[in-house]
Amino acid sequence: MIDLRSDTVTRPSPGMRRAMAEAEVGDDVFGDDPTVRRLEALVAERLGKQAAVFVTSGTQSNLCALLAHCGRGDEYIAGDSAHTYCYEGGGGAVLGGIQPQPVRMLNDGLPDPDHIAAVIKPDDPHFARTKLLCLENTKDGVPQSIERMREAIDVGREAGLALHLDGARMWNAVVALRADAAEFVAPFDTVSMCLSKGLGAPAGSVLSGSRELIAEARKWRKMLGGGLRQVGVLAAAGLYALDNNIERLADDHDRAERMAAGLGAIPGVTVTSLATNMVFIDIVGACAALQSRLESFGLLALVSSSPARLATHLDVSDDDIGVVIDAFGRALSA
Ligand SMILES: *Cc1c(COP(=O)(O)O)cnc(C)c1O
Repeated sequence: MIDLRSDTVTRPSPGMRRAMAEAEVGDDVFGDDPTVRRLEALVAERLGKQAAVFVTSGTQSNLCALLAHCGRGDEYIAGDSAHTYCYEGGGGAVLGGIQPQPVRMLNDGLPDPDHIAAVIKPDDPHFARTKLLCLENTKDGVPQSIERMREAIDVGREAGLALHLDGARMWNAVVALRADAAEFVAPFDTVSMCLSKGLGAPAGSVLSGSRELIAEARKWRKMLGGGLRQVGVLAAAGLYALDNNIERLADDHDRAERMAAGLGAIPGVTVTSLATNMVFIDIVGACAALQSRLESFGLLALVSSSPARLATHLDVSDDDIGVVIDAFGRALSA
């Protein structure tokens, strides 16, 4: 099956599995796992941060960051369709007593700087204490340049807020923009990145930042049940991903572009967004039956409603793109 549902569906490659099998391990709660320590050091170095902590998921990473930055009665600002705000179970509020303050997002996923300025609270007993501004990059595949992020960052900094980047797919942005990774994340106090999306590892995210914030995040990770033992087997997959699977994200982006061009030429299909490894399409007659028809042609895609998101990734080859376009053409002409 060709699986376009997400870039999280990749399976570890033979090379990655070898690296996992050969990983040196130890009890990471004691700080004894050399592979985890190597991964954390490598991410910190590549991102120009003092420290990093390996966590189970992007959700845990963002939550550890929220808890490290904010206390009970504090507030964080995030875009109104940001992952941290919408898709993480309200963890900051549930577990940290942290109030989310959503702000409208502009088309590329940047929280509207004017709206940020308008919701930052003054020091007044009526209000939660605004502490943190969260950005997300890429958002729905769309990369925001450093200059673009600055428009929001400057507003936050001006007001003395801390800054967190939900960079689950930050490497897609770095590759697409040909940016320097450390420069890209330099304005942020903490940065979360996923190993388990476009980079192709089976699990794991890494949170990086100052020594102090990461020490705090590490404490929260333990409380959240994320203190793992011989987890170097997973860190080895992350190291392999960082060494082998970053530059090749450009292939996923090229394939998304080819896929968008092919699908856009099919009557009834309109490409509404194409950026990095994500293609969004409107389909006339999107329905569950269409999804089943595609499945019968060997294609997994969430097309029961519009717009549908299609993601390219490590396990979608050049040849697959032709198969995908052909399958859509046949499914929609049936
Ligand atoms: C996937 C994702 C997360 C959460 O990662 P999980 O590993 O699924 O918990 C956070 N933020 C963004 C932008 C994501 O795409």
